[in-house]
Amino acid sequence: MAGRSAGAGGGSRPLDPSSPLRYIRGIGPSKAEALAEKGFLTAGDLLLHLPFRYEDRTRFLPISGLRADCGGVTISGRVLSCSLFTTSRRRMRIVRALVDDGTGTIEGVWFNQPFIRDHLHEGVDVVLYGYPARSQGRRGALQMVAPEWELVTREPGDEIHAGRIVPVHRRLPGLSPKALRRIIHTILEALPAEMPDPIPADLRGRLGLMGRAEALRRTHFPAEGTDMAALQTFRTPAHLRMIFEEFFLLQVALALSRRHAAEVKRGFRYRVNEKIRRRLGGVLPFRLTAAQRRVLQEIGDDLKRAGPMHRLLQGDVGSGKTIVALLAMLLAVENGHQAVLMAPTEILAEQHYRGLGKLLEGKGYRPILLTGAVKGAARRQTLAGIAGGFWQLVVGTHALIQESVVFHRLGIVVVDEQHRFGVVQRAALREKGTHPDVLVMTATPIPRSLCLTVYGDLDLSILDEMPPGRRPVRTFRRKEAARPRIYEFVRRQIRQGRQAYIVLPLVEESGESDLKAAVRMAADLERSFPDTSVGLVHGRLDAAERDATMKSFAAGEIELLVATTVIEVGIDVPNASVMVIENAERFGLSQLHQLRGRVGRGPHASWCILIESGSLTPEAEARLSIMAETEDGFRIAEKDLEIRGPGEVTGTRQTGVPDLRIANVLRDRELLELSRSEAFGLVAGLGDREARGEEGPNRALVRYVRHRWAERLGLVSTG
Ligand code: ADP
Ligand code: MG
Repeated sequence: MAGRSAGAGGGSRPLDPSSPLRYIRGIGPSKAEALAEKGFLTAGDLLLHLPFRYEDRTRFLPISGLRADCGGVTISGRVLSCSLFTTSRRRMRIVRALVDDGTGTIEGVWFNQPFIRDHLHEGVDVVLYGYPARSQGRRGALQMVAPEWELVTREPGDEIHAGRIVPVHRRLPGLSPKALRRIIHTILEALPAEMPDPIPADLRGRLGLMGRAEALRRTHFPAEGTDMAALQTFRTPAHLRMIFEEFFLLQVALALSRRHAAEVKRGFRYRVNEKIRRRLGGVLPFRLTAAQRRVLQEIGDDLKRAGPMHRLLQGDVGSGKTIVALLAMLLAVENGHQAVLMAPTEILAEQHYRGLGKLLEGKGYRPILLTGAVKGAARRQTLAGIAGGFWQLVVGTHALIQESVVFHRLGIVVVDEQHRFGVVQRAALREKGTHPDVLVMTATPIPRSLCLTVYGDLDLSILDEMPPGRRPVRTFRRKEAARPRIYEFVRRQIRQGRQAYIVLPLVEESGESDLKAAVRMAADLERSFPDTSVGLVHGRLDAAERDATMKSFAAGEIELLVATTVIEVGIDVPNASVMVIENAERFGLSQLHQLRGRVGRGPHASWCILIESGSLTPEAEARLSIMAETEDGFRIAEKDLEIRGPGEVTGTRQTGVPDLRIANVLRDRELLELSRSEAFGLVAGLGDREARGEEGPNRALVRYVRHRWAERLGLVSTG
């Protein structure tokens, strides 16, 4: 191929994957800076920027054969005319280009991209990718709105853009599609036939995985005759190899991290004897469910080991996580250590403290509450009592405990309702000098596939059984017209002594008007429910006001609570039997599920009424129909993942695990499972020196992973 030596310009250094981008021809310092902001520093980084779609430019569809709504198509033709004009009213700048391929013509239309006019001159050849649709004018002729476009040129080296299967990469700052394609091509050309491969050769052989250099070449520039369907769905052998690699490296990191954590010697381990068993049993107000017993066993096994526990406990709203946590905490206390329960808000901390206080009353334990409301001398005494070891169980808010508390002998930390308590926060806890056991609890079920990546260094326990006597929440979808009947229903419930929530969406950008809507709604409701006490909570209230209102709702003084979504996860008002959600189409799926979980917590029959006010997007329709169909949090979480995609669901960015570039936990589940078992198997088989990257056949792999993930996973870098 031409241009073989067009590599790192301006230097003696040959181009290789570690070459900084600024030395590559066509990039330069300012573009390199923009790319660095997106996480692309080296040539190797660009190689991991795989095409997101492919165009077979050996065959184009004839324009005469296009139909409206035939989906995305690629056509090729010559520009007959091109014009730029500005609309008089909204001063929109519109470029129109008429393209002819000999069978017919189609118009491309672009809004507010006037520069396109400078490229699409009459007579140039172009490739367009877009969605044909009927235009408003032009007697309903076909057009494509904002199609992707590329000029067809015939200079030496331009074969990579035409007459073959052409890769389409997601745009990167400062680079045209062609420039990006050319640069990646250049980097690939410079690769040696055999490049270092992080996947060990024997594993590659066993799984039949393609070598790295070849996989990169084939994913970026597929060979002639490659199955287009397999390419578009990332299912070619080359794609599978790259997906496996990304998962595998992450899983090796997680396995090393876990191994590292298990090696911690903290100089104590808990014991469980008959006496302790009896004392813990004496606290139990009910028979545990089978799931609770199983989870307790898992936790107990962790606690008896020398290394600290790192466990994630998932259980749907109401599945009974608290008692499990309490028993684990008491086990630590019985062994002479302190236990901490952290909640995301003061109100939840207080609720936990009250509940726990009831269970422990007269049992000889010393629990204490620590929130921002504890001030002055009381606070100083509390802190001193914790530091001195007098207080055995400390309940408080996350922030508080992480920041300001010194413990005497911290044994176990339970983190409630905070699945975003990620790797970074856990590392911060270790910095407190102790190596406490950590139990993270979440009522937001996380699909297994995500768990394996984002929380892949945690052990997982699942409470998949509800305590007996729980009654299902009946869920209905209703339109605006049903409002009078819904209100009548709520009135009847309140007359029977129940309480109700009415929840409104609060979208940040339009916060002001939504707030007004909430205030107006509360006023309207006061009129519609004249003999009912109505309360209002929203995000603009200060914490004290909000807490006061929540407390009087919990106490039954407020019967109808109008709220924006600030009602916390975990709020427990068993007497509330109705949840009305306004503009239900505007809520996310897991939000809806959490909100619904606020009712059905007592002995009463309960309802969730979803009022649909706007028109529904297909996603909104999917969300509401799954809500009406099931209460199963795990099914809902899977669905949520499907609808929203992995990145959004758990707030991956906050957890310290970077987003995956190539692999997709939904699409590539099987490879995820495979990579995990291979990675964990490999790490388990390493000797201690091997696991530190000091020797052995997998030394390069281990060192690479430890270096790349050192900070994020709390590994000690081997430098
Ligand atoms: P969550 O998992 O949402 O935190 P909780 O721990 O608050 O759930 O438990 C919900 C309710 O169920 C509480 O009132 C609790 O006392 C009760 N509960 C928990 N386990 C059992 C059980 N095994 N039998 C009966 N009630 C239980
Ligand atoms: Mg809870």
